[in-house]
Amino acid sequence: MIQVEGLTKRYARTVAVDNISFSVEKGKIVGFLGPNGAGKTTTMRVLTCFMPPTEGTARVAGFDVMQQPLEVKKRVGYLPENPPLYPEMEVVEYLEFVGRLKGLQGSELKRRMGEVSERCAITDVQGKLLSKLSRGYRQRVGLAQAIIHNPDVLILDEPTAGLDPKQINETRKLIKGLAGDHTIILSTHILPEVEQTCEDVIIINRGRLVATDSVENLTHRLRGAEVLAVEVAPRDGPLEEAEVQGRLAGIEGVSRVEFREGHNGRLRFEVETAPGRSVRGDLARAVVEAGWDLHELHAAAMSLEEIFLQLTAAENEAGETPAGEGGAA
Ligand code: ADP
Repeated sequence: MIQVEGLTKRYARTVAVDNISFSVEKGKIVGFLGPNGAGKTTTMRVLTCFMPPTEGTARVAGFDVMQQPLEVKKRVGYLPENPPLYPEMEVVEYLEFVGRLKGLQGSELKRRMGEVSERCAITDVQGKLLSKLSRGYRQRVGLAQAIIHNPDVLILDEPTAGLDPKQINETRKLIKGLAGDHTIILSTHILPEVEQTCEDVIIINRGRLVATDSVENLTHRLRGAEVLAVEVAPRDGPLEEAEVQGRLAGIEGVSRVEFREGHNGRLRFEVETAPGRSVRGDLARAVVEAGWDLHELHAAAMSLEEIFLQLTAAENEAGETPAGEGGAA
């Protein structure tokens, strides 16, 4: 339903999106994940024909965003980060206005207005001015305007930003309910959002594609590496953080050791193993042989957040100038 090939978008001194390619199948709900400034909004603006790419192509619902923008716009609903709501309009007027802009009229327009209002749970605020709505309601009206012409593809930019936890829950439910009928890409910098709402994930960082996979696969792929919580206690004298860290890092199969905290003379570390390596026995022996006690050793869950940091760390260490600082030209 969406095919992006070698997409690049340069602003004057910034490469906001750098040669990314991905595709999204019909009916899927996909999380577009990346920190602020990663290039999510820019990509979405290209997909919705708000601006042309510098290089590369994007096809949405079978049409090219450059060659057939009108066809694309007919088939795409867009919820920008700050939906363009006119404060002096009532909800019902606004929906009618947007519906007409999208080519609906007469009884079909009325029918769609009713349907989307019901779907987005805004029937009780039809007569209210947009300026008087809570943030949660404004977001739902934003969703209603995005789906009024029943588009094949929905593109939602940070749809839960600025909402309270209850509103976030409601909005996520609403979005999930829309999948199937629509193919959805939603951008977020919040990892649990992807875990809770999406089937697939596209991760970008500094304009580059970092990973694209199902949420399940991505989590499995990276969980091959184990993260252990290790607490070392002193026996004959105080512990030296650097010495303990060095010894743990020296164990074969350990890929990362990070100091977490110290209390009552004990030191707590997070130890990550290389994929498929079991180091518990060696680790216990190393601690005891060094003359310390092993106070705790257990698996620490790897969150999507850690996965994300791990994936993007390699990118960041590659010595690139961040896109936001205007280095790459
Ligand atoms: P995200 O949505 O992931 O936060 P954006 O697509 O908004 O990222 O931005 C990507 C990069 O492009 C950032 O470095 C941002 O500063 C830059 N950028 C975005 N819009 C413009 C613009 N209109 N002019 C110049 N630079 C821009």
